[in-house]
Amino acid sequence: MADKRDYYEVLGVQKGVTEDELKKAYRKKAKLYHPDLHPGDAEAEKNFKEVNEAYEVLSDSDKRARYDQFGHAGVDPNFGAGGGNPYGGGFGGFGGFGGGGFEFDLGDLFGSMFGGGGGRNSNAPRRGSDVESRIVLSFEEAAKGCTKKIKVTRITNCDDCSGSGAEKGSSPITCSACRGSGRVMAQQRTPFGVIQTQKTCDQCGGKGKTIDKPCKTCFGKGKIRKTTEREVNIPAGIDNGQAFSITGGGNVGVNGGPSGDLVIEVSIKPHAFFTRKGFDVYCEIPVTYAQATLGAEIVVPTLEGKVKFNIHEGTQPGERFKLRDKGIKRLNYSGKGDQYVIIAVEVPKNLSKKQKELLRAFEEATDDKNYNNKKSFFDKVKEMFD
Ligand code: ZN
Repeated sequence: MADKRDYYEVLGVQKGVTEDELKKAYRKKAKLYHPDLHPGDAEAEKNFKEVNEAYEVLSDSDKRARYDQFGHAGVDPNFGAGGGNPYGGGFGGFGGFGGGGFEFDLGDLFGSMFGGGGGRNSNAPRRGSDVESRIVLSFEEAAKGCTKKIKVTRITNCDDCSGSGAEKGSSPITCSACRGSGRVMAQQRTPFGVIQTQKTCDQCGGKGKTIDKPCKTCFGKGKIRKTTEREVNIPAGIDNGQAFSITGGGNVGVNGGPSGDLVIEVSIKPHAFFTRKGFDVYCEIPVTYAQATLGAEIVVPTLEGKVKFNIHEGTQPGERFKLRDKGIKRLNYSGKGDQYVIIAVEVPKNLSKKQKELLRAFEEATDDKNYNNKKSFFDKVKEMFD
């Protein structure tokens, strides 16, 4: 307890921060440490709890006033337990986060936290959070689009109770403590006297309904985490590191709100001979010295199959040719990129005696007018040194 961090420091905000900025800072931190993103990470779990505790206090104007005045002693029931703390009570409502039970989605979590602050009704429908997934594709699959099966783990309504949380044959009943409103009046002792406040009903957690016999499958939560296989259509033209989303494929909404999205990030495996830049495809084609010299018809692989292409007489290594519209379909647009053919002249090795003789005879038969670059280069060298 003695080394408890300052709540403002925990949330990375200044004293005097506005409610909005506080909320923003909290959301950022809570997302950063959310247990869904760090399964089994005790450090993250500790940070998550710390962030929630800090927000619970600072978002409540009464508790914040006490904290500002008295520090942790003003709001923490464990501080000075056994007497001394005149403002007992401290926090409640964090039971749900203990013991590794983190079965809430973020929407649910934020909803209940902010609902407790008085601004939002915790019975209001809220959108479910997004679920992220990753998929590995071949070069062609990404270029042309495809259908893939992927496994997705998401929060869905429990099948056995249809999301009500009540055991089959029973249904939730109106909470007797708040008569269904989810809010109850409370008296609170403050340094300024006793005041009346509204707070979230403890009995139903603000839901307005309670469950007599909880569903055995979801333990009364109405929701379960479920892994299912689903088909996704990969849009043609998607590139490495890009993501696309499937509306409604994420976690189920709260109180009948819409589901979040399934966001799928794409990784593309390298291809044996194609590379891509945007929607253009590049392919290096090895040709022989004689083909480059004499010109030749070469075979070029494209995404749509093999095509024949004529390289001209005297084609140079590294020379680049464009095959219009032979590239990748533009993502979400019509039209395609181009394919570039890059000529790689392969210098022959392991020549026989006969072959070498022929090549020497050829070399002797050529002169400067056959080698433009060589001549102009050595002319310049000569200028420099002579
Ligand atoms: Zn259930």
